[in-house]
Amino acid sequence: MQFVSTRGGERVTGAQAIVKGLASDGGLFVPESFPTLSREELEGMLGLDYPERAALVLSKYLDEYDREELLSALREAYSRFEGEDAAPLVKIDEGVFMLELFHGPTCAFKDMALTVLPYLLRKGCDILGIRETILILAATSGDTGKAALEGFRDAKGVKVMVFYPCDGVSKMQELQMRTQEGENVNVVAVRGNFDDCQTGVKKIFSSEECHRALKEKGVLLSSANSINFGRLAPQIAYYFSAYCDLVTSGQIALGDKVDFTVPTGNFGNILAGYYAKRMGLPIGTLVCASNKNNVLTEFFREGNYNSKRPFFKTMSPSMDILVSSNLERLVFEMSGRDGALTKERMESLAKNGQYSVRAEELKLMRKSFVAGCTSEDDTVDCMYEFFTEYGYPMDTHTGVAMSVAERYRKKREEDPAAEQRPMVVISTASPYKFPQDVLYALTGNDVKDSFKGIKRINLLTAMKVPENLKALRNKPLRFKTVTAADKMFDEVLKFV
Ligand SMILES: *Cc1c(COP(=O)(O)O)cnc(C)c1O
Repeated sequence: MQFVSTRGGERVTGAQAIVKGLASDGGLFVPESFPTLSREELEGMLGLDYPERAALVLSKYLDEYDREELLSALREAYSRFEGEDAAPLVKIDEGVFMLELFHGPTCAFKDMALTVLPYLLRKGCDILGIRETILILAATSGDTGKAALEGFRDAKGVKVMVFYPCDGVSKMQELQMRTQEGENVNVVAVRGNFDDCQTGVKKIFSSEECHRALKEKGVLLSSANSINFGRLAPQIAYYFSAYCDLVTSGQIALGDKVDFTVPTGNFGNILAGYYAKRMGLPIGTLVCASNKNNVLTEFFREGNYNSKRPFFKTMSPSMDILVSSNLERLVFEMSGRDGALTKERMESLAKNGQYSVRAEELKLMRKSFVAGCTSEDDTVDCMYEFFTEYGYPMDTHTGVAMSVAERYRKKREEDPAAEQRPMVVISTASPYKFPQDVLYALTGNDVKDSFKGIKRINLLTAMKVPENLKALRNKPLRFKTVTAADKMFDEVLKFV
């Protein structure tokens, strides 16, 4: 399988796409065509465990990677998760399910891909005969950073550097990153918001000068952000797995349609759902849920992407994003894979902060997607209600998704064909990762300290506290650097 750039300029193999991260023309790598799974293959998947299901999906894209070796890498990655199943599907109510993706080493769904990416990258380098040190640069709104640091820590031949917005991540997220262990890692706070971090990293990636300066030091750049296809591919697998679980538990028959609601930031998670649909998985609607930063809601309503708007800090910081990188991949598909047009639009976004799509593209998008946003108050109400009604505590990002999902389910009642479809809400983080806000939502109480919050939630819900969060309390702070957004590359040079 070959991969092409969304901006038309490049064609590479899967290993190259993963090692490079971003195309030289600034575009994102996408598969040249979508592989499909036949009904028989889907049926065969029912009896498999999670790593086997994931291996089946990944091998459709990464045919240069040895299938058996891929499977054992996936087994190893997901053995680091708590519990038997890396992606358990939990029934909340009739027709409502939660796909829990937070049982990995950093308690957020980013672990689903970032525990696997080190293998994909290392193997990719082997396939390509690359000897240089790989430097992973990541911009993070909180969760990617920690998951990348943990995934790559002490990996041979790789260094990891993470940039996060100074005041834009939660206390727990910041602690997780600043206490990171490992000889090959670095963490830097940036004065600005997530978009500033992401733009800074993208600038480094698309600068010939930066590449040259690093090459002199024997260093090659790669990305752990969801612009890297190696991040996206493992995420496709859990849509298939959730579907299989619905069939094997007798909730649906093979071939019935299922809806998914996804708490969205950079559009990576939900895009993986769209890829699953293109691969033949019977998905009805993908509901794109946003918080107060509702640039995507407006885009799906009006076909105009406008990032020039106020930026809000919310209880769901991993969704506080105005420029959703992965949307470029969808826009590319909707344009009929027009690289020149996609390039023009993305340049307009970089220069003028906006671009529009044509009416027929918007119509096509709406065949697969519905978008909705919700307020902080409605999120809190929804989290409270699901806890009191069903005894189910959820994190703030998942709260946003559930709030939007419930509203969509009400609206869906008008359509008898759609009403029958199970709704799977994707749970992207452990409630213990955002303890103060979660405690407030469940009880109305404020606590000053995150660890106190964890203790109270534990008393209230009896849900097990993840070991890795408990351990944070006694770890020394290793990283203290704060820099300006336009000085990020200086920090990179200091590190390598
Ligand atoms: C990253 C993240 C999201 C957003 O996912 P995208 O793939 O960026 O859309 C949502 N919730 C949590 C907890 C996250 O860490």
